[in-house]
Order: sequence, then C-alpha cells, then structure tokens
Amino acid sequence: MHLYLAVPRGFCAGVVRAIEIVNKALEIYGSPVYIKHQIVHNNYVVSDLENKGAITVDNIEDVPNGSTVIFSAHGSPPKDYELAKSKNVKIIDATCPLVTKVHNEALKYSKEGRKIILIGHRGHQEVIGTMGQADMILIDDREKNNIPKLNNSESIAILSQTTLSIDDTKSISNKLKEKYKNSIIRNDICYAVTNRQNAVKNLTKFVELIIVVGSETSSNCVRLKEMSESHGTPSFLINSVEEIKDIDLNKYTKIGITSGASTPEVLIDEFISYIQPSKIDIVGESEKDINFVLPDEV
Ligand code: SF4
Repeated sequence: MHLYLAVPRGFCAGVVRAIEIVNKALEIYGSPVYIKHQIVHNNYVVSDLENKGAITVDNIEDVPNGSTVIFSAHGSPPKDYELAKSKNVKIIDATCPLVTKVHNEALKYSKEGRKIILIGHRGHQEVIGTMGQADMILIDDREKNNIPKLNNSESIAILSQTTLSIDDTKSISNKLKEKYKNSIIRNDICYAVTNRQNAVKNLTKFVELIIVVGSETSSNCVRLKEMSESHGTPSFLINSVEEIKDIDLNKYTKIGITSGASTPEVLIDEFISYIQPSKIDIVGESEKDINFVLPDEV
C-alpha cells in the first residue's frame, strides 16, 4: 500500500501555545490547575495533561476559590472571566490570539453601530465565547433558511468561527453581501484551517481514501473529512489507530492521511506503524512557521 501524507497537518500555533501554557502553569503553580473546557478538542492531549495534574471542568462554578484556572484555546464569554474573578482565582488565558482577533472585531463593529452576523456552529465553545462579546446574530450553515431578514440598507459586519469550511463560509458571506450591500466581510477562518483544508483538497487528487486523525468534537477535523468527501474521496475520521482495526484497508492501494490542528503527530506515527506502507510520499508544502507569545503569568 502506498501512503500519501498531507502537508501541512497537525498542530497549529494556537494549540502549541495552549498546551505550553498548561505545562508551564503546572510547573509554576503546581497541580491541580483547572482548565475551563477541554484545552483543545483532542482526547489524547486532554488525557496527557490530566495525567500531569490538570483538571478539565465545564463550568467556572466547578473551579474552587483561590485556585488557578486556564481558559481554553477556543475563547470564552466575558461573564466566565467575571465569575472567575469573583472567586479570587488566578486566571490564565489560553484563548488563541486569532480567536481574540474575532472578539476585538465584534467589539469594534458593535461600537461603530454595525449589526454583527456571526457564521458559526451553534453550541461550539468558540461561538459561545464570541457571542458573549457583543450583540450578534448567528448563522449556522447546517440550518435551513438561515439568511436573516433585516433592512436591506442595514450596515453589517460579517464575522465567522475560525474553523469552518472555507467554501461554505464564502458561499454564505456572498449571499449576505448580495442582499445587504452595506456589509463588511471579515475573513476569520484562520491560516491553519485554511492550509489544512487546501492540503486535503490537493490530497484527493492522489488517493482512494483519506484518513483524518482527530476528534469528532474538533470542528476543524470534521471539516477535513467533509472536504475530502465533497471532492469525491471517501474519508474516515478516527481518534486513534484502534478505531481503524476493524476496517479492511487492504482493498485500497493509495491511502492519504492528515490530521487536524489539535491532533498530536504521535497519532499519525502510530497509524503508519500499524499499516506498514510499502511507500510513503509527502503531498503539499510546509506552512510558514508561526509562533504566538505566551501570557505574562507563565
Ligand atoms: S485552529 Fe486557528 S484559531 Fe484555532 S487555535 Fe489553531 S490557529 Fe488558533
């Protein structure tokens, strides 16, 4: 079997930063360190940090007074920070700077009096965090008749979740712009998501099947699977090699593999060891090395 490895794949700068924040916080402040929401949407990463002394909680109410809490990479609404402050906890913010950029856009356009439309997936942590910044309307591309009925002359700012499908988001933004001429469209899908989706699109030209390694709760991983399928290449999204052991891969001669922005490379290595390909080719080009500075607390 011939294996094609997509490039770029795996960790983005925001995920690397978030994991480093937790590791440093454990070193400096000792365990336990509480994490509001999964630090990134990957079970392997979450378990690894929990084994070192991190405790993941869904609500700030579950963080004991006087402890240390890290806010996850996806961002959180201001009310969560206010509640944390009232509990006298040390707050460390691991929100990805590219998500913070969207929060700042929401505040700016709200102050300018524009109506804000956010394209995103209802209930996703990033959307919950962004919607807490200002008053806005959510459009979920999975829901029907999702274009809101507003005054045609309304001044609008169109923002998006950072991990959506590039093609679907562009299609909705264009529909909105056509209806509401006085719209500003922000391109908020981040560099890592854009590059990984383009890499999968390219990979579909070479292979019969694409394996995406990552979590079902990871929006950007799910989008990679969808990208593959929308280009006619079947795809499986798996957490680890254990989930592929029941599938007969021998019927495929050319398999592609990629991973989402929160998937550690060790899971790709495990997959390669398991399938023992006769040949491995790299498809794509590395992305520019991007690093985000750590917060002062660590
Ligand atoms: S996927 Fe993009 S927005 Fe999300 S953490 Fe990574 S760089 Fe930041």
